[in-house]
Amino acid sequence: MKKLLVLGAGTAGTMVVNKLRPRLDPAEWQITVVDQKPCHYYQPGFLFVPFGIYRAQDVMKPRRDFIPAGVEIDLSGIESIDTGKQRVALVDGRHLDYDYLVVATGTHPTPSQTPGLDGPALGESIHHYYSLDGATALYERLKTWQGGRLVINIMETPFKCPVAPLEFTFLADWWFHERGLRDRVEIVFATPLSEVFTKPVAARHLAHLLDEKGIKVETDFYVERVDADRNTLMSYDERELPYDLLVTVPVNMGAEVIARSGLGDELNHIPVDKGTFLSPKHPNIFAVGDAADIPTSKAGSVVHFAVEGFAENFPRYVEGLPMLEQFDGHANCFIESGFGKGLLIDFNYDTEPLPGKYPLPGIGPFSLLQETVTNHWGKMMFRWVY
Ligand SMILES: Cc1cc2nc3c(=O)[nH]c(=O)nc-3n(C[C@H](O)[C@H](O)[C@H](O)COP(=O)(O)OP(=O)(O)OC[C@H]3O[C@@H](n4cnc5c(N)ncnc54)[C@H](O)[C@@H]3O)c2cc1C
Repeated sequence: MKKLLVLGAGTAGTMVVNKLRPRLDPAEWQITVVDQKPCHYYQPGFLFVPFGIYRAQDVMKPRRDFIPAGVEIDLSGIESIDTGKQRVALVDGRHLDYDYLVVATGTHPTPSQTPGLDGPALGESIHHYYSLDGATALYERLKTWQGGRLVINIMETPFKCPVAPLEFTFLADWWFHERGLRDRVEIVFATPLSEVFTKPVAARHLAHLLDEKGIKVETDFYVERVDADRNTLMSYDERELPYDLLVTVPVNMGAEVIARSGLGDELNHIPVDKGTFLSPKHPNIFAVGDAADIPTSKAGSVVHFAVEGFAENFPRYVEGLPMLEQFDGHANCFIESGFGKGLLIDFNYDTEPLPGKYPLPGIGPFSLLQETVTNHWGKMMFRWVY
């Protein structure tokens, strides 16, 4: 039996095993997927938890429910990967051997990377919603917050769902309006980028929306440290940004096991070919999803498009045939903009987000780069489609 081992059963690992099981002969291939947690999180739903739109149980599902028959799931932490011996050590002391390895361990918020962020103020005057615990604590904080200066900032790129901090900003504007508090809240959006988003055409639309909503923008704001005693963000170019409440996107880093195994870059993301996800160093290792260092958004939609091609390529690759599918970096993001509306952007490695209709050109029903009610419902329906 040949052994395919998939590390991580999040969006990418789950899709990989579902797409590959029917394509690989069960008499020849054993497929195992490993994850440390029995619960699968619908992470796009974390955005709605701070505003009480979703509760914790709305974004949690038993992981086993998504793993198909014929795939073994091992619920265990992964300790290290020995690429020489083709063997993965688990936290409980066991080992799993592999012929082919697919790494899908994602990326996660790491507050300890920013001096001053990971102290007692985290959970008090500083919050994030990039984990369910963080989003739930922020819900409790917003319930009683009486206003002041709300700063939403991004610590470092890349981070998953690059539109999520903008969505949080738009929803906060709406939420404070709803509560009759908007005139008591100053909202500031601070980013290390020189525009509000990585793609210039979309950035112009989004900057216009922020302006319309009276939200101040600080660009090129690269945080050096947080002075939590003075409730102030300090940038490398010595600017200061005071806050009463800071909602941050901490540095996103790949899993520690990637660093321990010598497979990652400085943020523990794994360099792979951007068309096929094959490691240039290890001919039997692929990295898919947020774990991979490829120049497109870290997003579930990207995982969806990427795994389609990967699943076509993999059975050919193991037969010694050329991989025919080249991933083009396709990303598709609904952007919740508050007051029951949303935008949609669609782009890839080479093409900027363009106006028009999606998925059917000229028909839609979704509108690209336009704020519509239908786009909002697309975003909300996604939880059920996912
Ligand atoms: C607030 C927020 C909003 C978002 N909104 C959107 C959106 O609107 N649209 C969109 O497309 N995407 C969105 N995303 C991004 C999307 O959720 C991710 O891009 C997607 O989940 C990536 O899938 P993945 O499988 O690569 O990683 P994950 O789904 O994070 O899975 C990684 C898995 O690896 C496991 N793992 C890691 N290390 C170990 C270890 N050492 N041992 C065992 N298991 C391990 C983890 O437990 C996890 O289950 C959002 C994310 C966040 C946080």
